[in-house]
Amino acid sequence: MCIFCKIITGEIPSYKIYEDDSVLAFLDIQPVNPGHILVISKKHYKNLEEIPEADLKILIVAVKNIGHLLKIKLKADGYNASTNNDPAAGQIVPHIHFHVIPRYVGDGHESWSHSEYAPGEAEEIVKKLLS
Ligand code: 5GP
Ligand code: ZN
Repeated sequence: MCIFCKIITGEIPSYKIYEDDSVLAFLDIQPVNPGHILVISKKHYKNLEEIPEADLKILIVAVKNIGHLLKIKLKADGYNASTNNDPAAGQIVPHIHFHVIPRYVGDGHESWSHSEYAPGEAEEIVKKLLS
């Protein structure tokens, strides 16, 4: 059983913030900012490609509600809602989860760096994406 399935059963303790029949939201043990929440499906799916659309819709609505909660209760100025899909993208726990991270003006957390397209590179990428 994966670590998040153990959190669902209570075998591993967590600070639960929201729970219903389909989803569970709990504090990330290593927060980017205090109040960083993980929102997970109660059924074990590895990632976005595995989760059926019906379950994903319920999950993303819970993400939206948790984001709103962070703004209201923690006075967050905004929040990041993201999922790391596959290890190459930073997914460590193989059970679909969204990170919902409260953000504050000037909190210093930069997102990833941006680059420039080389001449012709954007056209090549578009050709691949549309082929
Ligand atoms: P990932 O890198 O897979 O997107 O993120 C996994 C997240 O799960 C990490 O931010 C990590 O801090 C969190 N995490 C890992 N193990 C535990 C745990 O046992 N309890 C809680 N609450 N969070 C965990
Ligand atoms: Zn699991």
